[in-house]
Amino acid sequence: MPPVIDPEKCTKCGICVDICSEDVFYESKQGEIPTVTYPEECIHFAGCVYNCPSEAIRLRIPLPMQLVYKPSEDIELPWD
Ligand code: SF4
Repeated sequence: MPPVIDPEKCTKCGICVDICSEDVFYESKQGEIPTVTYPEECIHFAGCVYNCPSEAIRLRIPLPMQLVYKPSEDIELPWD
């Protein structure tokens, strides 16, 4: 499911639009709260969530994916 943007927290910086590899925010306008244009394209890599300076984005993980979804902060990497 798509990212959800809190309009109260969003500063309209556009970082999430630039960082999304899947064009979920396609055609969002500079200086406006991003539009979730293609929610079905979201692959939940969470780059928008982790790079939003205002912590204005959260992901809604679909119920079937919640069974296997692990937040990246819970993943131990070999180089950590
Ligand atoms: S990165 Fe965060 S503050 Fe910036 S436009 Fe996206 S939601 Fe708004």
